[in-house]
Amino acid sequence: MNQEIRVRFAPSPTGALHTGGIRTAIFNWLFARKNKGKFLLRIEDTDKERSKDEFTQMIFDNLKWLGIDWDEEPVFQSKNIKNHNKNIHKLLKEKKAYYCYCSPELLAKMRKETEKRGIPFKYPRTCLQLPEKQKEEFESKELPRVVRFLILEGITEYDDLIHGKIKVNNSEIDDFIISRSDNTPTYQIAAVSDDQDMKITHIIRGDDHLSNTPKQILLHKALGFEVPSFGHLPLIFGMNKKKLSKRFGAVSLDEYIDIGILPEAMFNFLALLGWSPGNERELFNKTELIELFSLKGISKNNAIFDIKKLEWMNGKYISSKENYELLPFVLPFWIKMRIIDEKIAEEKKSYLLEVIEILKSRVKKLSEFAEYGYYFFEDPSHYDQPAENKYWKNNIKERLMDLFNSLEKLKVFNKDTIEKSLRQLAELKNISASKYIHPARLAITGFGISPGIFEVMELLGKEAVLRRLKNAVQYLDFSSPNL
Ligand code: GLU
Repeated sequence: MNQEIRVRFAPSPTGALHTGGIRTAIFNWLFARKNKGKFLLRIEDTDKERSKDEFTQMIFDNLKWLGIDWDEEPVFQSKNIKNHNKNIHKLLKEKKAYYCYCSPELLAKMRKETEKRGIPFKYPRTCLQLPEKQKEEFESKELPRVVRFLILEGITEYDDLIHGKIKVNNSEIDDFIISRSDNTPTYQIAAVSDDQDMKITHIIRGDDHLSNTPKQILLHKALGFEVPSFGHLPLIFGMNKKKLSKRFGAVSLDEYIDIGILPEAMFNFLALLGWSPGNERELFNKTELIELFSLKGISKNNAIFDIKKLEWMNGKYISSKENYELLPFVLPFWIKMRIIDEKIAEEKKSYLLEVIEILKSRVKKLSEFAEYGYYFFEDPSHYDQPAENKYWKNNIKERLMDLFNSLEKLKVFNKDTIEKSLRQLAELKNISASKYIHPARLAITGFGISPGIFEVMELLGKEAVLRRLKNAVQYLDFSSPNL
């Protein structure tokens, strides 16, 4: 094909972007980049009531966050209404569309009657056959009217880029409305007009648009336009095999950003939601995805959104990043949890990088740097109860004090000297080193598990370690005097 490939992402700014929409953007972008084509952005903001600038901004921000860039200026659909109306008038003039004066009440009555007979409602074309006189009368009374597109008999057929041949009998399509009674164009005509205007060659969107496509093909044809290619992406289902809902995965991108998903992980994960390069590999960077992407790899079946897999992938991306690359992502979580502020962050930068190093192979979400790592900044505020029951028993206070005394003597306080001292103590007392390690971990971190405790102690420093051991003993004195 010599023609330049031009695709578009056309969200409505009526809410935050959700997983399905973002995946549509990713597939379009990959398709454009792979084929050296153009990826365009169209903001479908014709619904004045529900469209909000803040949502438009969110769309821009979300795409930028994911590293999806767009070619050419974004198109705002509301600015093209003149052109939509021009096309509506062309169809009216050529008798491919007609005015309909039927009131909503009358239509509701008609619908009720046909449905009573078990037949799906189709507009019975009452106004198509209106005598000229009657029309003139309605016009002079300024009766509200809509414009309906006249569906001619026949079969509408197209080669879906994903599903293959799709055939629809036009008799199944209603004479749908292309202009409302307030003279505003509807989605169908607006989308078709803009797709032509923007010279879109391939329309790739969710399966939820399958029923729009025959209507739009008929509009393209009626207007004498070349019909673009269409492809419909499988829907995304939750682990419960139900369509994603607010409770199951259909949350906005911002919510994933808030729990600490990295853009690379989100992009990689969504790219594999319904598409596969044909092997078992799962981790791909963007360049590799562009290289491998093909519409042939898109599944016809619904995709399953597995949050555990996203978290696994995120963990892989976190541990493979350099500490300095992670810092700007982790910092907001520490700041949000009031663990540090911006000033301290600047002063303690090298310490922060070490904390990231020690934690990064153990976390799956950036938020966990704050949840599980707060003890690098503050003494534990509480001790994990199950770990307390398990590790703090039988002479525990004495053991912690013995460890305190051994560590206090150390002139050089690093992981090797700490470990040596602890093991010597265990040998001297003839008990296993783990009888010191686990209780000390709990005293120092507040958790039953942590990164290597000798490294943690080295990073915290002698003063903090000794203070925390003592705090634990004091706490036990108070809470469990008999231990
Ligand atoms: N604005 C539509 C939506 O958000 C997209 C329409 C289209 O892709 O044609 O679902």
